Amino acid sequence: MPSYICHILPILCVLVFPALFTQEQPKLLLVSFDGFRWDYIYKAKTPNFSYIIQNGVHVKQVTNIFITKTFPNHYTLSTGLYAENHGIVANEMYDSVLNKTFSMNNLEIYDSFWWEEAYPIWVSNQMQGYKSGAAMWPGTDVKIHGMFPSHYMTYNGSVSFEYRINQLIKWFKSEQAINIGLLYWEEPDETGHMVGPDDPKMKKVIADIDSKLGYLIVQLKTEGLWDKLNVIITSDHGMAEVLQDRIIELDQYIDREMYTLVDHTPVVAILPKEGKMEEVYKALVHAHPNMTVYKKEEIPDHFHYKHNSRIQPIFAVVDNGWALLQNKSDGFLLGNHGYDNTLQDMHPIFVAYGPAFKKNYFKETMESVDLYPLMCHILGISPLPNNGSINRVLDLLDSTDPSSQTKATDSYSWVLGAVFGIVIVAVFLVIFIKQVTLSQLHTVQVPQSEMTQPLLEG
Ligand SMILES: [Zn+2]
Repeated sequence: MPSYICHILPILCVLVFPALFTQEQPKLLLVSFDGFRWDYIYKAKTPNFSYIIQNGVHVKQVTNIFITKTFPNHYTLSTGLYAENHGIVANEMYDSVLNKTFSMNNLEIYDSFWWEEAYPIWVSNQMQGYKSGAAMWPGTDVKIHGMFPSHYMTYNGSVSFEYRINQLIKWFKSEQAINIGLLYWEEPDETGHMVGPDDPKMKKVIADIDSKLGYLIVQLKTEGLWDKLNVIITSDHGMAEVLQDRIIELDQYIDREMYTLVDHTPVVAILPKEGKMEEVYKALVHAHPNMTVYKKEEIPDHFHYKHNSRIQPIFAVVDNGWALLQNKSDGFLLGNHGYDNTLQDMHPIFVAYGPAFKKNYFKETMESVDLYPLMCHILGISPLPNNGSINRVLDLLDSTDPSSQTKATDSYSWVLGAVFGIVIVAVFLVIFIKQVTLSQLHTVQVPQSEMTQPLLEG
C-alpha cells in the first residue's frame, strides 16, 4: 500500500466513523411535579433546582392552558394541543352523545374513547419506531389508538418517587432502550390544596420535592445517564390561596333540580335539565360580581375552550382565590387551581438540563403548548399538528448540539456522512484485497521457485 494512504486512512476513519457510530439517539426525561407553582423555588431552600438552573435553562413562568386543571394540562404537555382540541377538557367530564362520564378518580379514565381525539407523544414516538417509558404520567396506563407505552406502570399513588425513577432508569439502560421517559409525582399539589400555597407548611413539601430532584440527579449520574439525557422538570399548573369568606353558593341562585353539576370549583360546568337552559343562565349570569357565567358559544376565544362537545352549555368561572360550591357544606379547599390561565398564580415552573439545552440561560415565559414541538425536535421525531410553535422556544437550545439542529439538517449530514464513510470503507477494502492478493501471489511463487531451483541445479 502506498505510504501516504497508510497515513491518511486512520485520520479519515477517526473523522468519519465517530459521526457514523457515536451519534446516539437523543434521550429525554420529562418530569411533572403536580401543582408546582413557578415561585415555589423562592419559598424554600432548593439547591437541586438551583443546580439545574445554573447548568441548564430556567423559564420563570409557563403560561399553561385553560382550564388550569391536572388532566387537561398534562394532556397538553404531551400533545401540544389546547383542551378543546385534545378532548380532555376537564378532570370531570360528561359526553351527552354517548351518555358517558369521566372522573379523575374513577375507572372511566381507562376508556380509550376519552383520549383518542389526540395522539400523545409516547404514541407518535412508538409509531416512528422508538420505545417510550412512563411512570404514572396521566393517560400512560390507558390504551390510546391501540397502544400503551412500551413500558409503563398502572397508576398507584402509593408507589414511591424513588421506585418510579429507578424503573425509568432501567428502561433507559435496557437493551431496547427508551428514548423518552415520563415521570409524574403527586406533590406539591396535594398539600397545596390542603393548606394553601402560602402556608409555611409548604416549605417542607417544597424542600422534599427538591431532595427528590437531588435523588434523580444522583441516580442519573451513578448510572452514567446524566450527561446524555435531556431532563425537563415542569408542572401542570400553580395554586391559588382560597379564603373562607370567598365562597359563592349556587344554591342561593338556582334549584339543584334544574341542572347537573359536571365539573367543580373554581370552573364549573353546568348541564341544564331539558328546557331549563335560559332559566339557569338568567339566574346565574349576574348573580355575583366575582363570578363570570358564559353560554358555551360566548366563552372568549383566548381560552381556546369552546369547540368540543364535552364542554357543557353553561360555564362559570370565579375570580382568583374564590370558590364556587353548591353549598358551603360541600367541603372547601384552602388552595385551588383551574382559574383563568393568564393569572400568575396558575403558572408552573420550567427548568431543563442536558446536551440539547443552553447553560445558565433564563427566559421570562413560554407557553405550555410549545413543549410538545420542543420535545419532538430534541428527539428528532416528526410532530403531529399542534397548537405550539418550535420557533418560540428554539432559544432554549444549544445551537452547537447536533440534536438541536433542524431535522432536515440532521438527515442531510447523516446521509452525507454515511456516503462518505461507505466510500472510504470501500476504497480501504479494495486496497486491502489488492494488497492481500498480491502478497498471496508472491508467497505462492516463492516456494515454486525454491522447489524448482534444486531441480535446475541438480
Ligand atoms: Zn390539584
